Amino acid sequence: MDKKLLAELKGKLEGQKAALQKELESFATEDPNLKHNWDAKFPNREDADKDESADDAQEYDNALSLEHSLELKLRDVSMALEKIGQGSYGVCEVCGKTIDEERLLACPEAKTCLKCHQK
Ligand SMILES: [Zn+2]
Repeated sequence: MDKKLLAELKGKLEGQKAALQKELESFATEDPNLKHNWDAKFPNREDADKDESADDAQEYDNALSLEHSLELKLRDVSMALEKIGQGSYGVCEVCGKTIDEERLLACPEAKTCLKCHQK
């Protein structure tokens, strides 16, 4: 892969990683024992009114699903950065072919080529 393109994609991935970590840290903590695993913090209920507990539960559910999708994305971004380090970035995990530059530019954490992705 073109070095200039690779550097550009690496920069994008690093930016995404930092943004995702920052967002996760705002409402979740990373599990110290499990790499790439985050847990949403329970909302602080100490001074919450009892009537609000249903809202809190809903809020926690929302936080959990958001946490889950951010965590998955962060995992993909981290994997892509690891692959760049190993020199195996930009190769489809399914068919082993090179992933289109256009696809990587739109989605630098892509693990598969567009054909395999659409299957
Ligand atoms: Zn493929």
